[in-house]
Amino acid sequence: MLEKITFKTKPDEIIDITDKVQSVVSKSKKDEGAVVVFVAHSTCAITTIEYEPGLRKDMPSILDKIAPKSADYEHNKTWGDGNGYSHIRASLIGPSLTVPFEHGELCLGQWQQIVLMELDTRPRERTVLVKITS
Ligand code: ZN
Repeated sequence: MLEKITFKTKPDEIIDITDKVQSVVSKSKKDEGAVVVFVAHSTCAITTIEYEPGLRKDMPSILDKIAPKSADYEHNKTWGDGNGYSHIRASLIGPSLTVPFEHGELCLGQWQQIVLMELDTRPRERTVLVKITS
């Protein structure tokens, strides 16, 4: 079973998608297995975080130290789209996550949420693929 979930995003937005992923697991009626969450875009990412206001501000500010928006990127010469930093950030965080589930529930930590991170320079529509693997 492969589900596709679409999100409308804004730059630097971090969206908690845990409930949507859990819904796919619940709908599958499988007791245990693993779910792959994957985003097929090169300027956004999937990871986990404690979804609270402090970290939602800390994450973009730390990313701006690692791959600053103001730096020069060769990519910007290729397409002129000005999102070299977005691609670098997306590659560092990664496009996917595998989460095991047991008794039909995601095996996440108490303070651990699955998030979609928008890293591009403008609002986008993003499709997240959710696949039960076993
Ligand atoms: Zn680009």
